[in-house]
Amino acid sequence: GKGRRWEVKKVTTTCPYCGVGCQFDLNVKNGKVIGVTSTDGEVNGRALCVKGRFGYGFIHHPDRLTTPLIKKDGKFVEATWDEAVDLIVKKIGSIKEKCGPDALGLLSSARVTNEENYLMNKLARAVIGTNNIDHCARLCHAPTVAGMATAYGSGAMTNSFAEIPGADFILISGTNTTDTHPVAGAMIKQAARNGSTLVVVDPRKTELAKLAKYHLQIKSGTDIALFNGLANVIIAEGLCDKEFVNNRTEDFEAFKATVAKYTPEYVEGITGIRAETIREVALGYAKAKNASIFFTMGITQHICGTHNVFSIANLCMLCGQIGKESSGVNPLRGQNNVQGSCDMGALPVVYTGYQSITVEENRKKFAAAWNVQELPAKIGLTVGELLGECGKSIKGMYIMGENPVISDPDANQVMHELKKLDFLVVQDIFLTETAQFADVVLPGASFAEKDGTFTNTERHVQLVRKAIEPIGNSKPDWEIICMVATAMGYPMSYGSAAEIMDEVASLTPSYAGISFARLEKGSLQWPCLSADHPGTKFLHSGKFARGLGKFHAVEHIPPDELPDNEYPFILSTGRRRYHYHTGTMTQRTGALEVFYPTEYLEVSCPDAEKLGVCDGDRVRVASRRGQVEVAVKITDTVVPGLVFTSFQYPDVPINRLTNPARDPISKIPDLKVCAVKIDKVG
Ligand code: SF4
Repeated sequence: GKGRRWEVKKVTTTCPYCGVGCQFDLNVKNGKVIGVTSTDGEVNGRALCVKGRFGYGFIHHPDRLTTPLIKKDGKFVEATWDEAVDLIVKKIGSIKEKCGPDALGLLSSARVTNEENYLMNKLARAVIGTNNIDHCARLCHAPTVAGMATAYGSGAMTNSFAEIPGADFILISGTNTTDTHPVAGAMIKQAARNGSTLVVVDPRKTELAKLAKYHLQIKSGTDIALFNGLANVIIAEGLCDKEFVNNRTEDFEAFKATVAKYTPEYVEGITGIRAETIREVALGYAKAKNASIFFTMGITQHICGTHNVFSIANLCMLCGQIGKESSGVNPLRGQNNVQGSCDMGALPVVYTGYQSITVEENRKKFAAAWNVQELPAKIGLTVGELLGECGKSIKGMYIMGENPVISDPDANQVMHELKKLDFLVVQDIFLTETAQFADVVLPGASFAEKDGTFTNTERHVQLVRKAIEPIGNSKPDWEIICMVATAMGYPMSYGSAAEIMDEVASLTPSYAGISFARLEKGSLQWPCLSADHPGTKFLHSGKFARGLGKFHAVEHIPPDELPDNEYPFILSTGRRRYHYHTGTMTQRTGALEVFYPTEYLEVSCPDAEKLGVCDGDRVRVASRRGQVEVAVKITDTVVPGLVFTSFQYPDVPINRLTNPARDPISKIPDLKVCAVKIDKVG
């Protein structure tokens, strides 16, 4: 901090960036956040990554939206809250009247609090009358939620970070953890240094891959073959946990029959990993005392994303490596509150706590609590479906805290679709690339300006505390939603965020015991079933959430778009340590953009030679859908034939190239593999 210590107020709160959920103190002087210092966080201790430590400058950035805006003749003009809300009510009302409630779609946000997501879900379902609500979890862990919920009965991380040191075998698949979840990455590094066997499955040579005992540098999109291959060895060697399989699972025989053909030699042909290595890793996993698997988008962002998750879920059950301390499957959720926004029902088919909208009893329960005659039973549209229907069945959208113009695949098409809407509301803290398309922009308050809770990736519900007053005329998102709902004729008012959580708890068994009063004393991990329930450290002890764990027989399928003569490279995308998601916050901190000012394309040395490019040369990367220019970085992180960059720099809008082909089950797009060509510029 820059202020004298006695002038500085410290407010303990939760990091607004990644799903690790570190806690820190915002240092406040004269109503301004002037620094971040460590506190004793329950998840992170005193550790913070560069984003948490230095990424606060966006809070007072001059670009912050400070007043509602209404577009007139193609230009935004400042408006009062009354004018903006009146226009929203009029436009949404007339779309609803003419075309019905399902002509409207809402995107909620993994960046805002649980309480705000809960109210967005209520606004969609009880006030507008549609289940057309989704958010960017569709682009990250929709396959996890779909896959693990079907296999185990719950889509969440089965274990906690505190259990990492107890795992003698750690398998990391498709996660560049030291960049995307740095504090968790540090814990994994520490475990490896203390003797845990570390295995990394990744087409890229990440920092953890360099540290690992085994780096399985598989060909992109061949995960199912690999996991089936590991299972094949374990069954052939008689190492499966028969007691666990017999007592706690079902559908084993079909799975066993399917993996029979995935011998190590067969799998070597698909993945490029030596048969002998596959054997060694399989034996290591099966014989480990406690084995933990971690995965992220390298598993999920494929047209077979849900099947990838099934293949991991199968392996755990086969060896009984789940339902106990330090053993299980741990999908690391990306955004600060993406676990919470799913928990709060910002999804087209569930209310809070994954209570399905298709069950009449649930609809009746929520209708009674929300004081409406009935709630819609028709399953809503996902993000991709909503965007695809713009101008067709979808006439109006309300987007809170999301930036699909940068984050979603085939971004040229996304922009084209948004233009077709009759009416678009965007609620955000900056005038994002998506907000530019809006008819009305509402200024939300940042995490520093409001109370609420975030749920981190290991199901820890933690307090977000107000440190300063909202900037300018901005308002906390929950207050804005209340204003809009009330103006639409559905009176919605709460004295505080705590009151909203009380309502969530009353309707949601897994959050039933959670209240702000308890959270003041310490965070709670759901399921937390009653006021005296201590919360749950690891899941599926003694029994899976769905009863028996379910095996799924899944086959390898190739990615939707593979290289050919015209587009000879595979492009894969991801994230960088210094930036967050579409960069709206981290590119405005006065610090992180100095550490990492621009984006580049990772190219292998042999490919650089072939292309005739040196480090720093600019290239044009083109797919069948679009093109961008970017500087080259020659690196051994990628193998020949593979190039990599992040989607986090608006000046390198790489999602204009990516493939919108989707997993038929979870509707996640294949962001990890698309075919591109590369030419030197000039
Ligand atoms: Fe924030 Fe994640 Fe970094 Fe922790 S690891 S400080 S939660 S960005």
